Amino acid sequence: MYSPIESLKQLSQWDRHHHWHAFTQMGDYDPLVISRGEGCWLVTADGRRLLDGASSMWCNVFGHANPRINAAIIQQLSQIAHCTSLGMGHTTTIKLAKRLADIAPGGLEHVFFGSDGSSAIEVALKMAFQYWQQCPEPQPHKTKYLSFGAAYHGDTLGAAAVGGIGKFRSLFQPILMETIQVASPDPRPLAHLTEAEQTSKLLEPIREVFAKHADELAAVVIEPLVQCAAGMVMQPTGFLSGLAKLAREHNVLFIADEVAVGYGKTGSMFACNHEQVVPDFLCLGKGITSGYLPLSATITHSCIWDAFLGDRNSGRALYHGHTFSGNPAAAAAAIEVLDMFDELGTLDGVREREVILREWLDQLSQRREVRHPRVKGIIAAFDLDESAMVTPPIGYRVARRALEQGVWLRPRLDQVYVMPPLAIPLDELRHMLTVITEALEAEVG
Ligand code: PMP
Repeated sequence: MYSPIESLKQLSQWDRHHHWHAFTQMGDYDPLVISRGEGCWLVTADGRRLLDGASSMWCNVFGHANPRINAAIIQQLSQIAHCTSLGMGHTTTIKLAKRLADIAPGGLEHVFFGSDGSSAIEVALKMAFQYWQQCPEPQPHKTKYLSFGAAYHGDTLGAAAVGGIGKFRSLFQPILMETIQVASPDPRPLAHLTEAEQTSKLLEPIREVFAKHADELAAVVIEPLVQCAAGMVMQPTGFLSGLAKLAREHNVLFIADEVAVGYGKTGSMFACNHEQVVPDFLCLGKGITSGYLPLSATITHSCIWDAFLGDRNSGRALYHGHTFSGNPAAAAAAIEVLDMFDELGTLDGVREREVILREWLDQLSQRREVRHPRVKGIIAAFDLDESAMVTPPIGYRVARRALEQGVWLRPRLDQVYVMPPLAIPLDELRHMLTVITEALEAEVG
């Protein structure tokens, strides 16, 4: 219908006008049109190749268009694409539930499927609330949630209510449920202290909140180890386990939002594994299908599950569900992803990549404008000093320059981060880091 160039022009116009993009000011949106993926590369409609530095928003584990994951999906499609999970199960989805129960931290064995990370959080929030209403010793006044400054748990209203990024939530404040919020567990202002001192300082206000409000708190919700959307804010060692211990002591349920950090991003399958934390709810999304199809999961233990059991007229069931909960095609992708983790030594590979990222940051940190270099698994970030605040901010400029050189980074104001697919080949990872270093040098001299 169109020549390639006309077609791209037309697509860009439609993209700008008809396609309302997430988290994007459409008034100044400059279309970047992707037509396919190849390994860790995105290929644009006009044939440019871009290394995927943010794993397509923290989803992709094994690269794009992976033949194994594609084949698993196609095989499932040849049987059935979708059937409901309301009152029935599907062989593939059932097997996935069992696989997840097998790998989740101790005793987490009941899996509720959704389609997005936000819905995984909504489910955990509702399960926690309902648990306290109908557990053996009900505590109906436990109706609030403890959340963290700078946290991000998604954009549906419940998930947004436990979020802490002002820009995303302040407008919606009047329609969000009330929460109790403590400051972000951000060690950067405490850089002069030892890690153990940082941990105890960051736990102090939480201890106070628990002492005062435990009887009204249903649950605490946190992104374990790394608050990603906050700007890759990395918690000091011991903070996560300290928080889990306090929650347990005060009878407050613990929701671990591993939508972003789960599936090996931190070097362990789940971030909670680093500190032997077993949450009451483990929320997964993104990497669960390597980002191939939408799927999320909320996994809990028998103590919660038992409180929802009763006869069909008891009113104790969880009245929550999504049409595509447990979609078999997505479940087939998720099973293949787990097989690949087992067979390809993916987690060992992350640790190898972490060393490369650390060496890169060590070198970069000799530059005056680079602040707070930090790395955990495949996630590496640094801040940029005041020079970042000129217009446009340096984080944007570095991302723009990297894009010109074929590396896609998610632009941020005063910061640069990478979170590539876990299986990125080492030479491609090194290439990505070189491009970023050169972009920074070109921007700040
Ligand atoms: N939790 C965390 C930690 C996230 O990073 C995100 C998405 N970036 C979500 C929840 C929400 O997931 P989704 O966008 O799939 O709803």
